[in-house]
Amino acid sequence: MGPNPSFRLIGRCRGCHAGMDLLVPCFEMDPMPLAGQFCSTAEEAIEAERLPLSWMLCQSCGLVQVTQDVDEAILFRRYNYASSTVSGLVDHFKAYAGLLTRNYDQSHLRFLEIGCNDGVLLRRLPATWLRQGVDPSDVACRSHQASQGGYELVSDLFDVQLVESMRWQGQWDVISGSNCLAHISDLHQVFTAVRLALKEGGEFWVEVHDLEALLCGSQWDTIYHEHKAEWSLDSLTHCLGLLGFECVFHESIPMHGGALRCCFRKTSQPRLSRTEPDLQTLQAKLKSLAEAYRARYEHPVVCDLMKRRAAGQSLVAYGAAGRANVFLNQTPELAFDWIVDESMLRQGRYLPHIATPIVAKDRLNLDQPDHCLITAWNYARDIRLKNPGYLGQWWTAFG
Ligand SMILES: [Zn+2]
Repeated sequence: MGPNPSFRLIGRCRGCHAGMDLLVPCFEMDPMPLAGQFCSTAEEAIEAERLPLSWMLCQSCGLVQVTQDVDEAILFRRYNYASSTVSGLVDHFKAYAGLLTRNYDQSHLRFLEIGCNDGVLLRRLPATWLRQGVDPSDVACRSHQASQGGYELVSDLFDVQLVESMRWQGQWDVISGSNCLAHISDLHQVFTAVRLALKEGGEFWVEVHDLEALLCGSQWDTIYHEHKAEWSLDSLTHCLGLLGFECVFHESIPMHGGALRCCFRKTSQPRLSRTEPDLQTLQAKLKSLAEAYRARYEHPVVCDLMKRRAAGQSLVAYGAAGRANVFLNQTPELAFDWIVDESMLRQGRYLPHIATPIVAKDRLNLDQPDHCLITAWNYARDIRLKNPGYLGQWWTAFG
């Protein structure tokens, strides 16, 4: 990651392409380094640039989105997130593959996945299906070369240009995207490409972090530049409805602290009637989120830890993902001694700006720090079970 990541401000809604006159500011955080960044040295970490981070609400479709757009090439140049290394996620994709296999009870199906990562879903789908992944990351490329997953990979961004150059117009029965929609700058453009590539009556499955879960739990630690948009069922239905998709299935799932799984069918109508988002309720909830963020040092867990810290007790964190990066950078007064992460790719590195060292989990048993805050709180149960030798006190601030 270069020292000066550049960004530009969005010029229209990412979801429906409404103009800036329809977008209103709704949340602002203290400047943040990029949450996916891990620095090689403490000096590099301290120098990591912090960028402004704010959200806008589209009054046309109800999509909440990051105003500052950091180029994908900068965000994901060193994308060190392989889904198959996260045990909770593997279980999630096993279950999802089962659902898709039962749902399309047929031996031949043309299935395309946008952002297939290391093939965690594709390799679990029936071998008789034609399975195609599209993903520009090096993780996707390396795993595809190394494995006998039985799927094809195009190492590129999924857009209209790709669909045209691959001659994929009207070619696919099912297209799916899990956890990747949040990372895309221009979603309207990607949805257009999905419509183009699907057969008539073809289906588009999406799994996205649920704005509703974020708002209910005041999960401000989920807000960072890499999460360019936060979807609700209303905003998805609206944006896809504009392009002639109808929602045929939706459910809430526990992945990543609260997500939505929906299926949209391509209809022959180019434009379905619009569903109007309930902006008043949404704005009230966004106001509570901003309040929870502003009063973050008054959060009971943070207050308690501050007191123990003042009394000279040791404090560490567990799970150096984007959430930890946000939480530690936004509560610098807690001054965590170090943070555990199970990924070898992150151990020995430092969180940007706050410069907290990332260590292996053995350190927890060796040092026995007084307090350990689980920043990867959506895996809190697993983490406690995996570390029976730690005798200090576990904490979570969310979930
Ligand atoms: Zn919009």
